[in-house]
Amino acid sequence: MKIGTGGDSIVNDLQIGQLMTAVVSCVPPDADLASVSRMMRDRRFSCLVVEEAKRPLGIITERDLVRYMADAFDDRERRSVIAAQVMSTPPVTVKESDTLYDAMVITRAHGIRHLLVVTDAGKFAGLVTQSDITKAYFKLFEDLRGAIERSMNERTQELLAANERLKALSLEDPLLNVGNRRAMEVDLGHTHAAALRYKRPYSVTLFDIDCFKLYNDHYGHLAGDNALKLVAETLNRSIRATDRLYRYGGEEFLVLCPETPLEGALTLANRLIESVRKKGLDHCKSPHSVVTLSGGAANVGDHSSWTEVVGLADKALYEAKNKGRNQVTFALND
Ligand code: GH3
Ligand code: MG
Ligand code: MG
Repeated sequence: MKIGTGGDSIVNDLQIGQLMTAVVSCVPPDADLASVSRMMRDRRFSCLVVEEAKRPLGIITERDLVRYMADAFDDRERRSVIAAQVMSTPPVTVKESDTLYDAMVITRAHGIRHLLVVTDAGKFAGLVTQSDITKAYFKLFEDLRGAIERSMNERTQELLAANERLKALSLEDPLLNVGNRRAMEVDLGHTHAAALRYKRPYSVTLFDIDCFKLYNDHYGHLAGDNALKLVAETLNRSIRATDRLYRYGGEEFLVLCPETPLEGALTLANRLIESVRKKGLDHCKSPHSVVTLSGGAANVGDHSSWTEVVGLADKALYEAKNKGRNQVTFALND
């Protein structure tokens, strides 16, 4: 649907036959003007149709009567006047099957407020007033506005749903702007396959923020989120371009170091743990008084899947926690 008054617009969809609301009476052409005037006064008609053999001959509007009265004041000899002498003729007509657009153009072109409606055979069918046309036009716009609003609402819902789907497909953690678990799984899959095929090393280190539940409990969840962001930024800034950082879970991170044996991963892990400690973020409930990390490292060895490597790193992390936190330990391959 198009808005506007052009030939291809919605006003062309609405036919005149659907618009007629005004009540109108007809009189024969020889009707006495006195009775015509009385009828218009008593029944509050703004016009009367002059009809003969069911065809509109003319229309008498208030404007015609005023014109006649003014003439009558000039010429006092006029006594017996009939409708045919007063009516505007030929009347401007539209067909029932014409459109709102046609009616708008015609009333505007003729500067009139009453349009007689005829059947295709030219028989009188009714009257459309300017107020019918205006009402129909406004109703069209109201309907259109409603339709646009409904379609916008539907579109918004679709976009929200698409956004949710995109989020699920996304490879980035929305809070920390680092790779998410899905990205980690994809990258580890590739790295592990390449390592086995070309007999190249790689290492992973799992990091976990120490006593983070106590941090949240004491400083609040929002402060907890900010601490998580600071840790993620610190880790991201300290790794090499070839290493990748992922959010493994809640307050756990995984650093993947391709082409790196265990010793290299341990050196990096110690540096990362130290750089987080040196940020000096107060944590009065931790034995270290500031936010710290523990880490567990493992390397590919001859493990058949990356999940085994990560499982070993997890065991090593558990050990680092038991040893007092703020440190990294490693898992030796069997
Ligand atoms: P540990 O030193 O043994 O790791 O102790 P912990 O308290 O860090 O470990 P625990 O697993 O008991 O608690 C993890 C906490 O991390 C609990 C959880 O509310 C918090 N956490 C996980 N994800 C988020 C997050 O996105 N934002 C915030 N603020 N807290 C989180
Ligand atoms: Mg944890
Ligand atoms: Mg923790």
